[in-house]
Amino acid sequence: AATRTPLMAGNWKMNLNHQEAVVLVQKLAWTLSDKKHDFAKVEVVVVPPFTDLRSVQTLVDGDRLSIRYGAQDVSVHESGAYTGEISAGMLAKLGCSYVVVGHSERREHHDESDETVSAKAHRALDAGMTPIVCVGEGLEIRQAGEQVAHCVAQVAGSLAGFSAEQVAGLVVAYEPVWAIGTGEVATPDDAQEVCAAVRAHVRETHGDAAADGVRVLYGGSVKAANVAGIMAETDVDGCLVGGASLQADEFGGICRFY
Ligand code: PEP
Repeated sequence: AATRTPLMAGNWKMNLNHQEAVVLVQKLAWTLSDKKHDFAKVEVVVVPPFTDLRSVQTLVDGDRLSIRYGAQDVSVHESGAYTGEISAGMLAKLGCSYVVVGHSERREHHDESDETVSAKAHRALDAGMTPIVCVGEGLEIRQAGEQVAHCVAQVAGSLAGFSAEQVAGLVVAYEPVWAIGTGEVATPDDAQEVCAAVRAHVRETHGDAAADGVRVLYGGSVKAANVAGIMAETDVDGCLVGGASLQADEFGGICRFY
């Protein structure tokens, strides 16, 4: 992972209103400054609900923070009569650098297919943002030992239509569903197995530059206490963090794992 900048992204899910968001980002900035965090060494991203983004933007811009931010979802449509949807252009205008697409909670509760995920990722890229494309197997698939085939198939479907240059700049997050919000973290070996398979697949489909450039994150019950072991794996380039990203100290500790 020597040439890839590690990335720690905190997915807040449907938590914290815009005032609480400002408090958390401020606390995170303080704790990272306390820990003498080097943002060039590990990129730090928060992913709040849509309604918090304007407040986070104002704080990040006003205080010239090095923390970046993104959204948890994006519409497949560009604009128009899609009540309740948020477009990639709107998110880019708010200064979002990233958009999470295909989180397992969206795949499960909103029936998102790989085709939908791919369409959303294209919208994000076209608007100048980096998609964080999530894949991961459920418990039954893990117990059947089919996690690699399952996740590689999701990557193949979700990255359909992207050029090698585009893939090189993407982020893929491997998040085993059985490890999300359960406190049951995958072992470093489990994380490495699937992250390496994702990179090997990208090497086959999009070539060396894409495989060496794409950042593959692990997500699922990551905490400050278990992050170092996961980050020691060759093909793990960072983490997508849910619960632990709601506490500044804990997420700060994850970002300052090195
Ligand atoms: C997530 O929702 O992306 C996630 C990894 O959650 P948690 O860290 O809480 O398991």
